Amino acid sequence: MPELPEVENVKNTLNKLVANKTIQNVTVRWPNIVKYEIDAFKERLSGQTILETTRRGKFLKLVLSEDVIVSHLRMEGKYSLHDNEEPLNKHAHVIFSFTDGTELRYHDVRKFGTMHLYRQGEEETAPPLNNVGFEPFDPALTPTVMQALFKKTTRNIKAVLLDQSLIAGLGNIYVDEVLFASGIHPETKAQALTLAQLGVLHEKIVAILGESVKKGGSTIRSYTNSEGKQGSFQLELFVYGKKGQPCLTCGREIERTVIAGRGTHFCTNCQK
Ligand SMILES: [Zn+2]
Repeated sequence: MPELPEVENVKNTLNKLVANKTIQNVTVRWPNIVKYEIDAFKERLSGQTILETTRRGKFLKLVLSEDVIVSHLRMEGKYSLHDNEEPLNKHAHVIFSFTDGTELRYHDVRKFGTMHLYRQGEEETAPPLNNVGFEPFDPALTPTVMQALFKKTTRNIKAVLLDQSLIAGLGNIYVDEVLFASGIHPETKAQALTLAQLGVLHEKIVAILGESVKKGGSTIRSYTNSEGKQGSFQLELFVYGKKGQPCLTCGREIERTVIAGRGTHFCTNCQK
């Protein structure tokens, strides 16, 4: 599933590919993706121009002249730009046809992705964005603020970092990586972390996500940005997907167990 660095890269490529294009019409081939009445969705969008694409947590926001489409790629969602003459792939489920003869096609093999439509400005206070927590790069997110957030829960740090309503954008890959880099065992109770540990954790979250954004994200299975390019940060992972391989820091075998319902990779020596 795309996490913050991958969604950030999709956002950047969409800004290159579709900014200032005007929608002529919209085709919806798999209605369940669109969380809005389909005819009204098509009607409202025709004639609107895409001003820019932004990101909030793992969500994309296509900001239009009047409305905002809040898009979640979930497992396999992908956007790509095509000439409208090009044959449609069977996984192209929502198609935005522009007045210049090009089309933005949303492909989704698993069909788990979602699109919500709101008037500009209303999207932040309505589902799904109303429940999205701090952006990791937000200067307001400090170790002290993290401590206050984590005091309210008895869950372990793995579960807490996956919880998008507290800190948004981290998924299974980056949670495992930041906990390894911070020397924190994934089953540690979040509320038991000291301010010093939270300082390290915060620093690693910002550093690892930032570095992955620069490297185009991680392509583990199928992720590509909207220009079809893969990321390369998967080459810099220390624990995710490394079960049985020697820890690059200490040499002990990386373990994998299920924590917070997710496959979790860690080093029992480096993360006590
Ligand atoms: Zn180790």
